[in-house]
Amino acid sequence: MLIVKKFGGTSVGDKDRIFNVARRIAEEYKKGNEVVVVLSAMGKQTDILLAQAREINPNASKRELDMLMVTGEQVSVALMAMALDTLGIPAISLNAYQVAMHTTSVYGNARLKRIDTERIQNELEAKRVVLVTGFQGVNKFDDYTTLGRGGSDTTAVALAAALHADACEIYTDVDGVFTADPRIVPTARKLEEITYDEMLELASLGAGVLHNRSVEMAKKYGVQLVVRSSLNLSEGTVVKEAVKMEKMLVSGVACDKNTARIAVIGLEDQPGVAFKLFNHLARHNVNVDIILQSVGRDGTKDISFTVKEDDLDEAVAILERHRAGSLSCQKIDVECEVAKVSIVGAGMMSNAGVAAKMFEALYDVGVNIKMISTSEIRVTVLIDEAHVDKAMNAVHEKFSLSHI
Ligand code: ADP
Ligand code: ASP
Ligand code: MG
Repeated sequence: MLIVKKFGGTSVGDKDRIFNVARRIAEEYKKGNEVVVVLSAMGKQTDILLAQAREINPNASKRELDMLMVTGEQVSVALMAMALDTLGIPAISLNAYQVAMHTTSVYGNARLKRIDTERIQNELEAKRVVLVTGFQGVNKFDDYTTLGRGGSDTTAVALAAALHADACEIYTDVDGVFTADPRIVPTARKLEEITYDEMLELASLGAGVLHNRSVEMAKKYGVQLVVRSSLNLSEGTVVKEAVKMEKMLVSGVACDKNTARIAVIGLEDQPGVAFKLFNHLARHNVNVDIILQSVGRDGTKDISFTVKEDDLDEAVAILERHRAGSLSCQKIDVECEVAKVSIVGAGMMSNAGVAAKMFEALYDVGVNIKMISTSEIRVTVLIDEAHVDKAMNAVHEKFSLSHI
């Protein structure tokens, strides 16, 4: 069997953790399996590197930031190779350049395009464990790129797809995918299995346990994932196309604090205004999420929408630039202390009243809803960031997701 295993930052955070992972890899290897391992940077190393960069130059270019960040993962794979060596297991570490993991050119948020598997195949044939740096790639300029925060999961899934692996296991610091982030909702329950679609929604709505692109890719290439703990032998959660269990009404609750709301007030109430507004943002790659337009009154209307907090400054600057020209409005209002709370479940498609039940849970704990957005399998509300924990717990409880 060919198995791809990915270990996250906490799982390789210090010497003991590195040896803990090395022993798990050794066990798999000794069973006669071919093992490819993807590692993240140790502990909070990526954050530390970014903080160092900010100290030197708060406006550092994305190219240089990527050049810096990729070092984190390289440390992990090299140390792991050394740890495996002490256990008598032949291993080799490879970075994205050595493997040749080709990505698009966008620094900081590149997408994997193609992986050359020859080097990895050769190393596996030579009976070595292959340790690959997560989160990074190489673009057409032969520069390093990174795949976006949390991107090592995507490296693992992409490798599993490219190598036609028999299994892809994502090892992390929790026992699997839970009905909510167990750090926020202590009564959250581990799910035995979850569909790609539900997991993709949860991941995109803030459940950081898996990088959303990794789920997208797993679905596209039919890579079944197991999310499990690196610290115990608990079974974990299987992420796959269809689940055998009866579909739950709601399978999870997620929150995303990296959200800001922009309100453009007093726009002209006539055709083309929304087009111009969102076209300006789209041309600068600013993604817009929940959109709300007021009823027109006295020839004017207001449009509010959410963006990632990271994109806020850029979005406001774009709007301000066009305010005098094509986008005349009275005021641009910004709110940062907001967060999205979402419920996700394939079961809600055929059930009325799911949204109402969520709103009731929020009403019960006195949380005001600022914006609402829904899809077939999700309901999202925007609330004050200060109320996130209270709201998450109340909603989770309302849908009886807690363990008994
Ligand atoms: P790694 O470094 O292993 O990639 P991450 O920190 O990226 O780990 O992801 C694991 C974390 O995701 C958990 O510690 C947990 O706090 C958080 N998390 C958020 N939502 C969920 C969820 N629904 N189920 C499990 N963990 C979640
Ligand atoms: N080290 C990277 C990060 O912290 C990638 C990852 O952990 O998946 O975002
Ligand atoms: Mg992660």
